[in-house]
Amino acid sequence: MQILQDLSLQELQDLMAELGEQKFRAKQILDNINLGKPISEFSNISHELKEKLLSRFYDSPIKIHTVLTGKDETKKFVYELVDGNLIEGVLMSYKYGKTLCVSTQVGCRMGCKFCASTLNGLVRNLTSGEILAQVLIVNAYLGGKKDRKRAITNIVLMGSGEPLDNYDNVIKFIELVSAPDGLNISPRNISLSTCGIVPKIKDLANKNLPIVLTISLHAPNDNIRKQIMPIANKYSAKEIIDAAKYYFNTTGRRVIFEYALVEGENSTPESARELAKLVKGFPAHINLIPLNEVEEREMKTVTRKRAEQFASILKSLGVSVTIRRTIGEDIEGACGQLRNKILKNQALKND
Ligand code: SAH
Repeated sequence: MQILQDLSLQELQDLMAELGEQKFRAKQILDNINLGKPISEFSNISHELKEKLLSRFYDSPIKIHTVLTGKDETKKFVYELVDGNLIEGVLMSYKYGKTLCVSTQVGCRMGCKFCASTLNGLVRNLTSGEILAQVLIVNAYLGGKKDRKRAITNIVLMGSGEPLDNYDNVIKFIELVSAPDGLNISPRNISLSTCGIVPKIKDLANKNLPIVLTISLHAPNDNIRKQIMPIANKYSAKEIIDAAKYYFNTTGRRVIFEYALVEGENSTPESARELAKLVKGFPAHINLIPLNEVEEREMKTVTRKRAEQFASILKSLGVSVTIRRTIGEDIEGACGQLRNKILKNQALKND
């Protein structure tokens, strides 16, 4: 069985030709997909065509399993996939609109020491349609349609998974969700976060999509980085900075570095000064995130005072920096807290 949401308009048109259907049906199908409907609820489609579709494609690639609402109105969605895997996503409401944080993999194999998404390793990649379906189903849940009536305005690829470890599916997702015949979300409103897979950052630069690239740096040098991020054994901080420069020079778009402040690891004044030196010379921005603590991990967060001291050193050295407000912590929906927890409980229940 396949996932209908994986298909572009062109691919749907090819499918219609193969099924002996008229070409305009493809657009009708896409209109139904954009409304987040399962095949069985498609309108303007004959019973016969629905049956043909259902013999090849899952009725729906994703179901909302649970919705948790936090104190700050942040919502965490737990989705169930067709193979029973559960993934998570977070909806954040801002003055300018609503941002959905989507997952790109079930689990993750990057092994960052502070992150919950990688605790059970990588289970599998999501297809482009499974990433898209997260946006479609939440948009429909909020009563949104498309274009001006869309409920979701922004997307961040910052849920579980490493987007550049699932490169082709992630690129296709960006193309599908931004297509004029799709939800039509501008790539300018899409941010992709990576732990720093250098060759893929260069591939992405060459694609020249006007998305926002953020790189999880988290350390001012290789020694500290290796202690908290295994990917640092593969690519050095210098290679990452060079890739970010290449990205900027190729696309003209400023790169954002994420830096989770961990007590006793990377948050000393000395680290701040070293970081300023590392990113010097091109227009980068640093987003400081006081660590969100994860039950299974030893690492501790920093005090507000320490975060502010770190930021002010960077500022005094001419680095553009902000401290990110943490939201969704009470529902384990903050950065690095997404996991397969309910999946574990579920498995226990079924035993
Ligand atoms: N794999 C990608 C996408 C994850 S985005 C990446 O590494 O960038 C999630 C962001 O939250 C990343 O910057 C990640 O490093 C950060 N993060 C992970 N665990 C965290 C934690 N416990 N506290 C704060 N930020 C965390």
